[in-house]
Amino acid sequence: MLTCTGYGATSPSSPLAPLTFNRRDVGPQDVEIEIMYCGVCHSDLHFVRDEWHFTQYPAVPGHEIVGRVKTTGPGVTKHKVGDLVGVGCMVDSCRTCPSCREGLEQYCDSGMEGQTYGGVDKVLGEPSKGGYSDRIVVDENFVLRMPANLNPAAAAPLLCAGITLYSPLRHWQAGPGKKVGIIGLGGLGHMGVKLAHAMGAETALFTHSPGKVADAKRLGAQLVILSSDAAQMSAHKESFDLIIDTVSASHDLAPYFNLLKRDATMVQVGAPEQPLPIAVFPLIAKRRNFAGSIIGGIRETQEMLDFCAQHNITADIEMIPIQKINEAYERMLKSDVKYRFCIDMKSLKAG
Ligand code: NAP
Ligand code: ZN
Ligand code: ZN
Repeated sequence: MLTCTGYGATSPSSPLAPLTFNRRDVGPQDVEIEIMYCGVCHSDLHFVRDEWHFTQYPAVPGHEIVGRVKTTGPGVTKHKVGDLVGVGCMVDSCRTCPSCREGLEQYCDSGMEGQTYGGVDKVLGEPSKGGYSDRIVVDENFVLRMPANLNPAAAAPLLCAGITLYSPLRHWQAGPGKKVGIIGLGGLGHMGVKLAHAMGAETALFTHSPGKVADAKRLGAQLVILSSDAAQMSAHKESFDLIIDTVSASHDLAPYFNLLKRDATMVQVGAPEQPLPIAVFPLIAKRRNFAGSIIGGIRETQEMLDFCAQHNITADIEMIPIQKINEAYERMLKSDVKYRFCIDMKSLKAG
């Protein structure tokens, strides 16, 4: 076993603190990655505080991982020592169910088992541990190639925030002639604005933070709508082809349903702790759809990274040493991050 260091929580109410834990030895198909950067996703916070009610402790979060290959198992053909690589929310899947066979491993019949954290390490049989740590061992098939032209720290958030927006934007065919709305300018939302804009859609951002209007325009939104202003909202009645909701807290969905055209779709990617109330009449009245989506498959994640390389898209990051992670969580809860915290893993050596 490999002894690793990282930051994690030992209970839902304890702050993240340094800890030591084991990872499996590098197997024939595995690569060992020295972690350079790890983005801070709101899911990390939901997870360590057990807001989704499946966390096992100690809990080491982090699924926006960029680093260099340090060791490869004898059977590895896709990556070599020294390569700049990424790992997102999945480190494994069953590979045989219909979803896996279609390259949609995120919808694998084995459920959460292959998650980077909160899953189960297939060799140790213990809860998997994420990227707030010095290194990670991952099956080569779940390791992504990071494009050389992107800043590796700013590219780390593509591995969750980026793919979580790219996948539904592609699935529901965002592009020229489509009016697409993104709700919330956080880590996911700001990637949604950049990606929808790059795909050629008319892009709108809904925000509950008046201070984010100018930034949203800079990031690519043609329209910025203050969700608290009923007049601004109703001015866009029945005009959207697609709306993607990235909000991490409970909120009312009905005002957004009313902005969709007939037969158009609202996609939920934000995963608040509490169930969201659904007002059915706006759905019934215009045959509107309410859907969900989770990250993207490995093939699509690589496609997204290559799309970002081509369009020079990365996240806007605030770099932090790992010692500031608890403060970063408090700021994230206040929607006070522009627009993704990224941990510089060199700081781990400082203790
Ligand atoms: P984040 O950076 O904290 O952004 C969330 C944004 O939601 C905030 O910036 C804010 O935007 C808005 N917001 C927050 N509280 C709100 C409230 N009370 N009312 C209205 N708007 C509010 O979080 P994130 O990392 O982007 O993650 C967002 C959610 O997606 C989390 O629940 C996370 O677990 C989930 N997630 C899902 C997937 C998936 O595959 N489906 C993947 C990753 C994350 P404004 O200030 O602009 O309003
Ligand atoms: Zn995430
Ligand atoms: Zn499967």
